[in-house]
Amino acid sequence: MSVELLSPAGNFQKLKSAVDFGADAVYLAGKNFGLRAQAGNFSLEEMDRAIKYLHSRGKKGYVTVNIYARNYDFKDLKKYLHELKEINPDGIIISDMGVFKLIKDEKIDIPVHISTQANTTNYYAINMWKELGVKRVVLARELSKNEIKEICENTDIEIEVFVHGAMCISHSGRCVLSNYMTKRDANRGECTHPCRWNYYLLEESRPGEYFPIFEDSRGTYIYNSKDLCLLRYIDELIEMGVKSLKIEGRMKSIMYVSVVTGVYRKVIDDLIEGKTPDYEYLQNLLNSVSNREYTTGFYAGFADETSMNYKTSSYVRNTDFLGVVKENNNGKIVFECKGKIYSGETLHILDKSLLEHKVVFDRILDLNGKRVDFTKPNRDYILDCGLNFQKGSLIRRYKE
Ligand code: SF4
Repeated sequence: MSVELLSPAGNFQKLKSAVDFGADAVYLAGKNFGLRAQAGNFSLEEMDRAIKYLHSRGKKGYVTVNIYARNYDFKDLKKYLHELKEINPDGIIISDMGVFKLIKDEKIDIPVHISTQANTTNYYAINMWKELGVKRVVLARELSKNEIKEICENTDIEIEVFVHGAMCISHSGRCVLSNYMTKRDANRGECTHPCRWNYYLLEESRPGEYFPIFEDSRGTYIYNSKDLCLLRYIDELIEMGVKSLKIEGRMKSIMYVSVVTGVYRKVIDDLIEGKTPDYEYLQNLLNSVSNREYTTGFYAGFADETSMNYKTSSYVRNTDFLGVVKENNNGKIVFECKGKIYSGETLHILDKSLLEHKVVFDRILDLNGKRVDFTKPNRDYILDCGLNFQKGSLIRRYKE
């Protein structure tokens, strides 16, 4: 029984966090041709470094090239594919048949994965991809448990399934809302997420007067899907023979990547060891990072009105992310600060085994050893607490 845990890496720091918290592989994008143009993404030099970093730790890296390409893209794509060939990632994730043809024509011998964006919903399509030489297919997110099971029974190609993260209201991202409203193309990685906006009615002779549109007394939410969470179904997916479990979120924070990766790592490891995971504890950890409430999407039945978030289209989370441990030095920890911490506060440190430790931040020092009353984000500090924590552990504050 083996399955790959695949995490998002929006930049190098998030990639390291994913690896620290137990990802077997990450997916990342270059500056162009991936579907998350607003994520930090990787220059060619960074990508080269990232793939070497992953390989040196026995991990894999897949590069997304999953735009729906236009004629004018192909000249640059050809150059880019040859550059990727030099970097030698473990897979290229594509959607477009034209990109696939270019990979073949140019003899780019990197395994090809078909992106969820290609909307693959049946094993006939999967077996056709196999005949064409594809190594793996990422299924559309709109499939039920029975459909995934039937697919696994009828193909021997690698199957990848999304288990966690944001959902599109449209069919696996094939959506023109963003194009229509902001001229930014979701299928070229530029989605502005208009599915999450609040809408009003404006009458043309009354500029500035916004009339609310209510589906009911709480507002409108027709497009606002909850986030996918298949935490309690991982055993079934492993049993079916799914090869890779994917976490969405290249644009999410270090805390999100770390905690979600750590939670799914723990579930997989427990199941493989024959233990029953502590689902309640793990679900609470998932609730502590950005989410729009959770749904099982199409997995456990057809997505319906219970799949929508009726309260807010914003992310919610019950913790604030305040820093990452960088080093330990005889009871002094050096941490990179991500928020404001006041001297004397009691905060939580979450380590890579997902254990939370309450720590009083009494003696906070700057790097010159001078005591400070509060910290500023994006600087390094020392906490003299007499304790050691693993590198990569997260410093968090629970909200009231
Ligand atoms: S607007 Fe919303 S539904 Fe459409 S692609 Fe963007 S995130 Fe998905």
